[in-house]
Amino acid sequence: MSDTATAPGLGLLDRLETGPVICAEGYLFEFERRGYLQAGAYAPEVVLEHPDLVAELHREFVHAGSDVVEAFTYYAHREKLRLIGKEHLLEAMNRQALATAEMVAQEQGALFAGNVCNTNVFTGDEASQRTVRAMFEEQVGWAVEAGVDYVIGETFSWGEEALIALDVIKRAGKPAVITLAMHQEPVTRDGWSPEDACARLQEAGADVVGLNCIRGPRTMLPMLEAIRARVKGHVAALPVPYRTHDDEPTFQSLRDPAYPLNPTGRPFPTALDPFMCTRYEIADFARNASALGIRYLGVCCGAGPHHIRSMAEALGRTPPASRYSPDMSKHAFLGTDPTLKQENRAYATNL
Ligand SMILES: [Zn+2]
Repeated sequence: MSDTATAPGLGLLDRLETGPVICAEGYLFEFERRGYLQAGAYAPEVVLEHPDLVAELHREFVHAGSDVVEAFTYYAHREKLRLIGKEHLLEAMNRQALATAEMVAQEQGALFAGNVCNTNVFTGDEASQRTVRAMFEEQVGWAVEAGVDYVIGETFSWGEEALIALDVIKRAGKPAVITLAMHQEPVTRDGWSPEDACARLQEAGADVVGLNCIRGPRTMLPMLEAIRARVKGHVAALPVPYRTHDDEPTFQSLRDPAYPLNPTGRPFPTALDPFMCTRYEIADFARNASALGIRYLGVCCGAGPHHIRSMAEALGRTPPASRYSPDMSKHAFLGTDPTLKQENRAYATNL
C-alpha cells in the first residue's frame, strides 16, 4: 500500500474521516508559466491541444502528494470560451479534461474530481440564475458521465452562485466540495461573511465548505478560523501561495515598489514571482490549518509540486517525491558530510 494517500480505494468522505485530503489546484497558472495557456482570457485550451502535458502535470501533483486528480475544466465554460470565439469546443474540452484526469486517477489510485467555477455572468437577477444553472448542469452532467468521485465548485465570490452550483451537484447525486473566493472585502458579493456563507452552504447539503484562491496563507487563515468555529462538517482551505498581508490581502491587490514597470501596473497575474511563498511557508500553513481541524487542504493559483510535497510532509505524509526532499548535509560547500572537502567548506564561510 502506498503511503501517498490516507486510504487508497476509499471515497472522499471516508478519507476525510480518517485524515487530511490534499487537492492540488493551480493548473491555469502553471500552464501559463509553461507557455501553453494565455494570461488574460485564461481558457484552458491546453486540455485539447496537449492532453499529454495535462496528464503529466496531474501525475506530478500526485507524485508530490495530491490525493486528488482534479479535472482541468476550470474556466472551460461558455462565457470564457465565448470570449475567445471557441464556444463550439465546450463539450470536447470538458470531456477531454475529464478523460485525462480519470486516466491518471485510475493509474495513480487517486480520487477523481470534477470541477465547476465562477461563471462571470452571475449578477443575482433571475435571468442570470437560470443561465448559470444551465452552465453548471451541462458541465456537471459531463462530469457524472465520466464517473467522477465528487465535484468541486470553486472560486465563487457570490454565495448565491455557489448555492446554485451546490444544488446542481447534489441533484446529480455526487458529493460536493464548495469553496468561496474572498476578495478584498471580507464578505461575499452578496454581503455574507465567509462563516455565514459556509454555514448556508453546509445547511444546503455541501459535504465540504471553505475557501480557495485569491488570498494567501496569511490573510486566509483568520477567515478559516471563523469558518471552522461556525460550521460542523468538513472545511476546505486552498490559498494561493503568495505573501498577501493585511494592507494587500489578495494577490490582485499586491503592489511591487521594487518594480513599478509591470505592464498592468500591478504584479497580478504575471509578475507575482517576488511574492511567492516558500515551501516552508506552505508547510506552516498546512500545520496551522490542520491544528484548527481543517482536513481538506491544497494550494491554488501559483502552486508548484514543491508546495504540494511540503504540505504533504507537514501533514506527516511521505509521498513518492519525498525521496528527493532536501538533504543539505551532502552539499559540496555547505554540507556536513565528513567526506566533503574541507577546503570547500572553509571557502563557504565567506559565501
Ligand atoms: Zn486559484
